[in-house]
Amino acid sequence: MIPPRSIMARPGRRTTEAVHDPSAPALRIRDLHVSYGERLALEAITFDLPVGSRLAVVGPNGAGKSTLLKAVAGIVRCADGSIAVHGVVPEGHTCIAYLPQRSEVDWRFPITAFDAVMMGRIGRLGPLRRPKERDRSVVREALALVGLEDRGKRRIGELSGGEQQRMFIARAIAQEAELVLFDEPLAGLDISSRNEVLDLLAQLRKATILVALHDLGIAATHFDFVLLLRGRMLGFGRPVDVLQPETLREAYGGALRMVSTESGILVVHDTACTAEDRCP
Ligand code: ADP
Repeated sequence: MIPPRSIMARPGRRTTEAVHDPSAPALRIRDLHVSYGERLALEAITFDLPVGSRLAVVGPNGAGKSTLLKAVAGIVRCADGSIAVHGVVPEGHTCIAYLPQRSEVDWRFPITAFDAVMMGRIGRLGPLRRPKERDRSVVREALALVGLEDRGKRRIGELSGGEQQRMFIARAIAQEAELVLFDEPLAGLDISSRNEVLDLLAQLRKATILVALHDLGIAATHFDFVLLLRGRMLGFGRPVDVLQPETLREAYGGALRMVSTESGILVVHDTACTAEDRCP
């Protein structure tokens, strides 16, 4: 089957800017299936995400979280189904920022933080593709917003893990992204760097945000909606409705600890069991 044109789009590529339908959700996914060769990684994913909302995509390793973000970004094709961003299925959206897992980036690449953030402007540069003073000023402002104003000249590989994630956020800000897809932004960060990233994400008020996460506690407390995956969709909705013991057991099997606290909050622990594991 020919994949819908929307997910063929690559973010950042200069194309005719899609005209958004103001009455449409930021993201509408219908019966999405994604395969790698013969292997089905995602099946029957269907949900709508309202404009300006925050979605945590959770599930065990191999559940398809990254695949979902990549499908929306147009990095992987869908085998079936459709994806529409702001109601349109165009060749490309300059409004989508895809921020990959840090492990997928070659941090030895000789580029400064300033230039990496400027890459977010590529889709908005004029025909000559040369940054103008306004683009440089947008990049400087974005770096300042994430507290990296003195790091612009550093090579990206010289930044700390937390700074690298903040640099990604600056890139999305410089891009003026309206849909931000952030894959595992908290992985490998210490608590204070995690909090900095979460605070910055909270400040991106105008954007709709999808974040792939492992921490179910953060999904419950910092996000409007949760999508629980294990190849297929086990739940989508408000955190309190999705993060229920039975659904979580279906996702994680026995690789999960749940503790009822005095305040009634369920504390859950993802031990990074994989979707293929036969959890006890
Ligand atoms: P998660 O992000 O939840 O850990 P992924 O989306 O990375 O899950 O992976 C979903 C499934 O697709 C897994 O079974 C994984 O092995 C498989 N997969 C992911 N990327 C590829 C790829 N490039 N080629 C083949 N299989 C892949």
